[in-house]
Amino acid sequence: MEAVVLKAFGEPENLEHQTVADPVAGPGEVLLEVRACGVCFHDVINRRGSLPRTSVPAILGHEAAGEVVAVGPDVEGWSVGDRAATLQRLHCGACSHCGRGRNSLCKDDTRFFGEEIPGGYAELMAAPVAGLGRIPEAIGWPEAATACCTSGTAVHVVRTRGRVEKGETILITGASGGVGMQAVQLARHDGARVVAVTSSETKAAALSEAGAHDVIVAPELEFARRVREITNGEGVDVAIEIVGSATFEQSMRALAPGGRLVVVGNLETRSVALNPGLVIVKELEILGAYATTKKELQEALELIGRGVLRPWIAGVLPLRQAWRAHQLLEERAVAGRLVLAAES
Ligand SMILES: [Zn+2]
Ligand SMILES: [Zn+2]
Repeated sequence: MEAVVLKAFGEPENLEHQTVADPVAGPGEVLLEVRACGVCFHDVINRRGSLPRTSVPAILGHEAAGEVVAVGPDVEGWSVGDRAATLQRLHCGACSHCGRGRNSLCKDDTRFFGEEIPGGYAELMAAPVAGLGRIPEAIGWPEAATACCTSGTAVHVVRTRGRVEKGETILITGASGGVGMQAVQLARHDGARVVAVTSSETKAAALSEAGAHDVIVAPELEFARRVREITNGEGVDVAIEIVGSATFEQSMRALAPGGRLVVVGNLETRSVALNPGLVIVKELEILGAYATTKKELQEALELIGRGVLRPWIAGVLPLRQAWRAHQLLEERAVAGRLVLAAES
């Protein structure tokens, strides 16, 4: 098959287009003919060599969607012709975390597509069915491929972890990114008042169009005062922290008493200073959010199918140009998600 192989960690040019042996579906796996694979910033970090579980040569890509072309042993419920999209990582399905539906906390099967499991930068991939969701008919391949990492994460953040309710006010930092745009749409759909923060004026219109009631353009990343002004001094019930350390303190200050801060991104991977007194007197909740569960992926695909969530596909590049997609991401030249597709 045709595949893009990361020969060695480092530059985008290390992503080489090659012909390699076809994978075979093992026990618990199906063979997918990959129709689209999203290129995520996580892939860039992986390519640079910052993810310890990846060993080269590797086939990257955890945002794959494809058609089942063969079914391995011990697989129930999947047939040739089914359409499937990947979760980011697997889970065992049997431990106490999995039993409570918290698949992203499972420690018994933590394998990640594109790390331990060869990923979607290829024509074919052998995928454990524990890591797959079913794609409804109405959804195209690029939209299905990116569902998990953008729409699915938004479901995890807004609904599962943030418990956002109708009538609440929600603040979203880094709102113009892949997860942010989906979170804006979902929170609006669920009846919240949405305050979106972006660092760039050029992205404000897209946020309003996606459903944000208020857009704060904060190139200096200072927005807490403005949030207080537009909420009559109250602050917000929920803050979704997609940027992380750089905006954490401002998000904390923007919270109303009893507010919830959901941390889902930390772009600069730095630590933050925290005043416990603020958490005590305002009875704040600080919640982490990691990955997407199988149920949430299915929920996200259904929301896309109904038109509630509109994935933002920046463009489709041929598989052999994976290196170029990585370059564009590193140049921050992409709004929305880039997707790879094999040409044959
Ligand atoms: Zn991703
Ligand atoms: Zn488990």
